Amino acid sequence: MGKDVYTIGIVGFGGMGSYHLELAKGIDEVKFVGSYDIKESRQQLAKEKGLRVYDSLEDILADDTIDIILIATPNDVHKDIAIKAMEAGKAVVCEKPVTMNSADLQEMMDVSEKTGKLLVVHQNRRWDEDFLTMKKIYEEKMLGEVFAIESRVHGSRGIPGDWRGEKEHGGGMVLDWGVHILDQALLMINEKVKKVYATLTYVTNQIVDDGFRAVLTFESGLTFLLEVGTSNFISLPRWYMLGNNGTAVIEDWGMDAKVTLARGKSEEDIVPVKTAAGLTKTMAPRREDTISNHLVPLVHGDIKDFYRNVAANLSGKAEIIVKLPEVLRVMKLMEAIFESAEKQQIVDFE
Ligand code: NAD
Repeated sequence: MGKDVYTIGIVGFGGMGSYHLELAKGIDEVKFVGSYDIKESRQQLAKEKGLRVYDSLEDILADDTIDIILIATPNDVHKDIAIKAMEAGKAVVCEKPVTMNSADLQEMMDVSEKTGKLLVVHQNRRWDEDFLTMKKIYEEKMLGEVFAIESRVHGSRGIPGDWRGEKEHGGGMVLDWGVHILDQALLMINEKVKKVYATLTYVTNQIVDDGFRAVLTFESGLTFLLEVGTSNFISLPRWYMLGNNGTAVIEDWGMDAKVTLARGKSEEDIVPVKTAAGLTKTMAPRREDTISNHLVPLVHGDIKDFYRNVAANLSGKAEIIVKLPEVLRVMKLMEAIFESAEKQQIVDFE
């Protein structure tokens, strides 16, 4: 028998801590009640937002009226806080990346197992509508047999000037953004990843990666290109998917998918394209009557379902959506990306 409302205490009331507080509004099953941050200004802000404020981590963990601890600190301290919280009898919601490497995550998983306390990672981008839409296009085989997928996030401001630029705090774009788009890729393609090849960029600093490119080769031969860039003043589309019968693209967040399908008519009399220095039939545009163009509307996603699922799980009514073995697989994949980039070699994965 569970509770009607689970109470949450935040550790780390920065940008993301504040976001969670806003997110929980309108979710009946959870209520944020307290906060602890090492910065006085954030303690003050938490008070202004109506939260109880604690003087130390130990104090917030000792409060028996708190059921769940949300960890929204920089990445390097997630592990210690999570372990202490579970040992204090709390369920834990941890921001991504759950920690800095797979060995640390394994330690956290062992404590979750030993204490019987829930540890769940806020992989919120599983609810992103562009992802859900491309997943549907893939699963419904709208394009026929898919042989290549490209998933990109591009910005032009370099690595943010906070702890994300510092290695010891778990900075860098593989850990920051890679963790989202890799998680999406592994959820979309239900196959083993056989090979990984990756390169990292250090355009804006020499300390942490400010972007990367990784190509995953799945068991069927499907290739998945993942790219994070922070020096991209012109962005490439968020998603690009190629099947043997069509192509899909999502240009940007919030935009419907554009799909072009072949209509099975073979073309005769192809008019070649003349370029400045040559002639090509291969690359000439299709005749309009041999293709059809469609818009696939965005599949709806509701990120509030993340906390609804946490509450339902604590009440014994639902399986947790973001499962630790999935998170561990992504952590290991990020390690394979670092290894491949360092060795400049293709790395075997599964
Ligand atoms: P931030 O710097 O804005 O906030 C971090 C806060 O933690 C700061 O207020 C800092 O004072 C506090 N802090 C640091 N060490 C602490 C400790 N030992 N105990 C208590 N408080 C401590 O950073 P942010 O952007 O909010 O990122 C926080 C976490 O959220 C990171 O793990 C980040 O990767 C993650 N994040 C996730 C998403 C997402 O979409 N899921 C988006 C942004 C950030």
